Amino acid sequence: MVTLVCRDYGFECGFVAEGEDVQKTLDKFGRHTSEKHAIEYSKEVLLQFITRQKRPWTEAEAYP
Ligand SMILES: [Zn+2]
Repeated sequence: MVTLVCRDYGFECGFVAEGEDVQKTLDKFGRHTSEKHAIEYSKEVLLQFITRQKRPWTEAEAYP
């Protein structure tokens, strides 16, 4: 399970992207920041966001 909370990244926003699939969750969050905040994060940056959370999943899951 991966969770990206928009507020955690400096936005005044209640959006939360959540899911079992890392890539899909990154896509969802990336689309949201692009559409709602006009900021496009690269896949690498988004991936860093969640790896910094020290969630219990490995890089192998992010790159199946
Ligand atoms: Zn947002």
